[in-house]
Amino acid sequence: MFTMKLRKASAAAAAALVLSLTATACGGGDGDNEGGSGSGGGDKIKIGIKYDQPGLGLKEPDGTFSGFDVDVATYVAKELGYDADQIEFVETKSADRENALKRGDVKFIAATYSITDERKKSVDFAGPYLLAHQDLLVKTDSDITEATDLNGKNLCSVTGSTSAENVKNDFAPKANLKENSGYSECISSLQSGTVDALTTDDSILAGFASQEQYKGQFKLAGLKLSNENYGIGVKKGDTETLNKINAALEKMVSSKAWDKAVTDNFGPANYKNEPAPKIGVIVQ
Ligand code: GLU
Repeated sequence: MFTMKLRKASAAAAAALVLSLTATACGGGDGDNEGGSGSGGGDKIKIGIKYDQPGLGLKEPDGTFSGFDVDVATYVAKELGYDADQIEFVETKSADRENALKRGDVKFIAATYSITDERKKSVDFAGPYLLAHQDLLVKTDSDITEATDLNGKNLCSVTGSTSAENVKNDFAPKANLKENSGYSECISSLQSGTVDALTTDDSILAGFASQEQYKGQFKLAGLKLSNENYGIGVKKGDTETLNKINAALEKMVSSKAWDKAVTDNFGPANYKNEPAPKIGVIVQ
């Protein structure tokens, strides 16, 4: 009985393998095969990033992309066999990330994407590759210094982010939380005074605060409200890609390319980052 079940299972596995091989052979060209198809030979890879987070994932006015996540994604793609000109970046907003991976819109996501148990139910994570902390961004003359000061105040964060969840469940359940689809909308609200504070990862907030058009207007509260372990999201069960990405991240750190990406992207924002995390080690 047991043997039969096993045989059946391996027959099914063999059939699945044939199917996936066929799919790979038929895919190609524009990378429509789950965000990427093969390696080299003019194929493309689709990678999810943020478009509106300076220093992490930003679409520049000339259509190019910059930021730490962009550099990590580009390094990883290279290790997977794709040159920079074979990458197609796709915007994956905070609330869209799990679905983008489930649908196979992108091969992987590098978008300030914290590894959480809840998200691990629907996607897999390589990494972590950066440790950030939730913080508050307020106007320079604000008297908000603690999370408890937020109760009764107008606060902005992003739908589908750990930042919004933490506020509701933990730090400031009595704050009047306004959720947007991206942090750039929140920064406009903070500037106009519609909200009293913006909360998310310090890495993101530092990037905004250092922008030329906001210089001198905002300050970070400097609170380490949480540990945000950034991972690279892949489709659940795509162990092959996951293992390759982990190897690429390890190489990025040991070759010091990780340090260069940190200096290039966080230097201008004066963001004091944590040391490179160890692959597979989550700081709770
Ligand atoms: N790292 C946090 C998260 O994954 C906040 C930043 C974001 O929304 O991307 O939810």
